[in-house]
Amino acid sequence: MRTLETDVLVIGAGAAGLCAALAAAPRRVLVVSAADPRLASSTALAQGGLAAPLGAGDSVEAQMADTLAAGGHSSDRRAALRVIRAAAEAVSFLCELGVPFERDAAGWQLHREGGHSRARVLHAHGDRTGVAILSALLGAAAQAAHVDLLCGLHVLALREGPAERLCGAWAVDAAGETVRLEAHETVLATGGVGRLFPSTTNGPAAQGDGLAMALGHGARVAGLEFVQFHPTALAAGADPLPLLTEALRGAGAVLRDARGERFMPAVHPLSELAPRDVVAREVWVRRARGESVWLDASSVFAGEHAEAFPAALEACRMLSIDPAREPIPVSTAAHYHMGGVVVDTLGRSTRAGLWACGEVAFTGMHGANRLASNSLLEAVVCGRTVGRALAREHNPQRRIRVRTTDEAPPPFATDAVLSGQVRSIVGRCLGPLRRASELEQGGRDLAALARRLAPEALLERRRLELAQAMVRAALARRESRGAHWREDYPERDPAYDAR
Ligand SMILES: Cc1cc2nc3c(=O)[nH]c(=O)nc-3n(C[C@H](O)[C@H](O)[C@H](O)COP(=O)(O)OP(=O)(O)OC[C@H]3O[C@@H](n4cnc5c(N)ncnc54)[C@H](O)[C@@H]3O)c2cc1C
Repeated sequence: MRTLETDVLVIGAGAAGLCAALAAAPRRVLVVSAADPRLASSTALAQGGLAAPLGAGDSVEAQMADTLAAGGHSSDRRAALRVIRAAAEAVSFLCELGVPFERDAAGWQLHREGGHSRARVLHAHGDRTGVAILSALLGAAAQAAHVDLLCGLHVLALREGPAERLCGAWAVDAAGETVRLEAHETVLATGGVGRLFPSTTNGPAAQGDGLAMALGHGARVAGLEFVQFHPTALAAGADPLPLLTEALRGAGAVLRDARGERFMPAVHPLSELAPRDVVAREVWVRRARGESVWLDASSVFAGEHAEAFPAALEACRMLSIDPAREPIPVSTAAHYHMGGVVVDTLGRSTRAGLWACGEVAFTGMHGANRLASNSLLEAVVCGRTVGRALAREHNPQRRIRVRTTDEAPPPFATDAVLSGQVRSIVGRCLGPLRRASELEQGGRDLAALARRLAPEALLERRRLELAQAMVRAALARRESRGAHWREDYPERDPAYDAR
């Protein structure tokens, strides 16, 4: 069995993990990722961009107001303020690394997305913003003497050390060999939970592993019921479903029913640019009735903005759809998790030695629903915050070696059939519209699966426990708020406001 020792272990090489690693200098950092993040991270898939209050007439207060409104007024105001105040600095940092955010003669080229009261979303390389950010961060990490990056290490479990401190993790490499990772500090940056759902925009790594492991080790978690569904995934039967960015609607694309009629103007004053949960529910309800829903982006693709959406164009062409002439079939898809590992202002979890940043973390900023393009911002800002906090705690006298006990590696096996069953149960009960009877049935089905699970399928057990915790959280919240919509409790209950 191989043992790798490091001062700081970062699990995950998306925007959050790489920003944490870069900011942690001079500490020695090992970043591990289950797969090449260019192929398997949400950061690489991000299209719409990064929200920052940089436009003329925009302000931190205005982005705050939109963030709090989208979040169903249950965001942690202080967390949101910390992140949005740091947006300008985060953009400068990314520009210094070479991210080519688009500009024109007047300054930043800013785009408008759902829930934003004005144009404030920065793009780089059109709708390939995530790739542009990830490439710049990977380039910087390769140059940084204090960072090593290892792809192909899948983390299975965290390691308990003395004094109730977590001290690294267990992983398997591509050859199936167990690897012991020893570290003074461990940072979870493993992204979201989309792959627990049958229809998702998230790539293969978003299985909720970091959150499931933290839960299993007793770290406090919150907001598990809040899952954002994207209203316009390309209904292609693929896994993941290709995303048709909200910026397309910002540029003039509209939703139509099977008869070609627009339906959003009757649903919300902002029509297609209503908050994402509103649009997603409407699309979900129509598709659940067996109706098809179409995105008409002909005005965008036949016009001068076509070159701004290369990823959407490519996804359509793969299905032989010409979006300049034909409407595009769309469906909802699990997209972003507002819940996560509870962290303090610096990114510390409630377990000593364990930190979290990015989508796996719960800062409280997003409340019940994330405002579009606030998540890349949060991943960059909070990743850097964690890294800086770690750097401040640097102790050059401390020996790297942190081996604690000769504990045996955890049992390891995978169970792909079970993963598929978990996904279909979760899809049935935790979609954009929920009700007690379905949640209760989902809970029973998951419990039955748990009884059949082989003891060595450790990660599957953790994921299943996470799915059960999400179902319990959704059952317990007897109100509708943000992305959590209960058919049996359709109103917001002020009793939950302060929780
Ligand atoms: C299609 C799509 C479009 C999006 N568009 C936007 C947008 O326009 N603007 C915006 O703000 N947000 C967008 N988002 C959301 C945003 O991309 C993510 O919230 C953000 O990138 C998360 O960054 P992260 O670093 O936390 O996680 P990720 O970028 O997902 O990185 C997770 C890392 O953890 C690794 N990992 C996971 N599990 C393990 C394990 N068990 N062992 C080892 N490694 C592991 C992965 O391999 C990966 O390296 C989009 C998301 C998707 C899916």
